[in-house]
Amino acid sequence: MLRSVILAASRSSRVERFVATAPYTSDVVHRFVVGGGTDDALRATRALVADGFAVTLDHLGEDVVTAEQAHAVRDEYRRLLAGLSDAGLTPPAEVSVKLSALGQKVDERLAYDNALAVCQAADAAGTTVTLDMEDHTTTDSTLDVLTELRRDHPSTGVALQAYLRRTESDCRELARAGARVRLCKGAYREPESVAHQSSRDVDRSYVRCMNVLMAGDGYPMLATHDPRLIAIGEDRARWFDRGPDRFEFQMLYGIRPQEQERLVAEGYTMRTYVPYGDDWYGYLMRRLAERPANLIFFGRALASRG
Ligand SMILES: Cc1cc2nc3c(=O)[nH]c(=O)nc-3n(C[C@H](O)[C@H](O)[C@H](O)COP(=O)(O)OP(=O)(O)OC[C@H]3O[C@@H](n4cnc5c(N)ncnc54)[C@H](O)[C@@H]3O)c2cc1C
Repeated sequence: MLRSVILAASRSSRVERFVATAPYTSDVVHRFVVGGGTDDALRATRALVADGFAVTLDHLGEDVVTAEQAHAVRDEYRRLLAGLSDAGLTPPAEVSVKLSALGQKVDERLAYDNALAVCQAADAAGTTVTLDMEDHTTTDSTLDVLTELRRDHPSTGVALQAYLRRTESDCRELARAGARVRLCKGAYREPESVAHQSSRDVDRSYVRCMNVLMAGDGYPMLATHDPRLIAIGEDRARWFDRGPDRFEFQMLYGIRPQEQERLVAEGYTMRTYVPYGDDWYGYLMRRLAERPANLIFFGRALASRG
């Protein structure tokens, strides 16, 4: 219930204005976001890579409504990738992109062209791109764009969401095709017709999808902070004899940092998803929805407006 309310607020510009100007908001934001600019992203990446982490960088922003905005996002990714390459941070650092930030809701072709430009820049920088997955109305379009991108850039990856009923079948397709797949639970508000609603059903679906990916021909990226699912991932890695070059764990910046360190120390490939940029509202609200305890910080921000 609370999750639904917060996710509904994540799409409200009135709530966004209210939240963005509250005094304590920046403390909450800094827990999950490394800063506003390319330099902040490079600084955070340098520190993480020095500590043995792999990184995927997300320039925050989504649902752009003009081609100009979409081109600006593409250009930021090009700048970032050039910076990562100059700093010697590739290949450990790659980038994550949302097609809706590259123009998917304006025109799918525009999003494809921009994503292709980002893939070309990633190739030149010696690294890869992963497509984030957004709400279920974009899944087919995102997978179509992925198929086209992989013709010339076969290492392009995609996120799949275990809460969607279709995902086990999508995993089967992509595992056969040898793709890089990030398996996550899913962060949007989805109707029962397309998505499992209870955490028990989502977790079971996650395990079924993980089994398909770990048994398949691709490169699984297990994105979760859930201790039980991580333990099952470690078990499947042993069972399918997948070493650190054949699968990885992924977690979000600022969430369960000690568990992230443990996985690095155990010799796993552990990739931290690092968001940066000023357009943090939608991302922050999804993090709050996942863990209502985070609302304690947020409540202080709102109360302090008096
Ligand atoms: C690397 C990465 C990439 C992702 N990409 C996408 C994507 O492209 N599309 C998409 O829809 N979703 C994406 N997600 C989000 C994902 O779908 C889940 O919403 C999120 O990871 C929470 O699920 P969980 O597996 O951690 O399990 P949960 O059951 O939600 O959490 C398990 C435990 O992790 C900790 N935890 C989880 N979330 C938080 C939080 N916000 N704050 C504090 N502690 C927390 C808590 O200890 C909790 O008990 C991504 C997640 C990761 C890690």
